[in-house]
Amino acid sequence: MKNELTGQLVIVSGPSGAGKSSVLERLLTRSPLPLQLSISVTTRSPRPSEQDGRDYIFIDHEDFVSRREAGEFLECMEVFGRGHWYGTLRQTVEEGLEAGKWVVLEIDVHGMLLVTEQMPLALTIFLHPGSLAELEDRLRKRGTEDEKDLQRRLEVARKELEYLPRYRFEVINDTIDRAVDEISAILLGEREHVG
Ligand code: 5GP
Repeated sequence: MKNELTGQLVIVSGPSGAGKSSVLERLLTRSPLPLQLSISVTTRSPRPSEQDGRDYIFIDHEDFVSRREAGEFLECMEVFGRGHWYGTLRQTVEEGLEAGKWVVLEIDVHGMLLVTEQMPLALTIFLHPGSLAELEDRLRKRGTEDEKDLQRRLEVARKELEYLPRYRFEVINDTIDRAVDEISAILLGEREHVG
């Protein structure tokens, strides 16, 4: 997006439960760059620790469909194949980039493909825990899914890993701080590169 707008689009994907949110939260407080996390819209229910407007904008399916028809989403997806939709608000991204922000999207692999078709200069990072066994361990410790949901997430993760080669950078989230430092360095390197 460097050419038309002054900001930079950053896409971070990776299996659910890989600790993406914790890494991004810390990255946002530490990076010297003007990072802005894009809050997605979803039809899934909030988890106990989640807040509307901070973690997601939680809406019902009907509202989602009408916003989609109105063209409000830069991309949107039914991520787990059971009726839960997720979408990136076009306005949030465009306004952020116009204001010179480094807009960070935390979206799935299909969302990444849709966005990079429209914005090929987006910087793409795949963040993952290193192995599926490690991911299973983290999901079990988090304990927010029942067994069926957990198995579905592992299956999705297995498929998502196949998209790893489509990303410019791979970061293993072995410890949060190390992953944050690595992403920080990638972003600063990009700033040097694009000037
Ligand atoms: P969770 O339900 O665990 O918060 O997220 C499930 C998956 O949805 C994650 O892989 C996350 O990256 C993805 N996701 C969250 N927001 C969006 C979005 O706006 N668009 C797309 N395509 N995926 C999203």
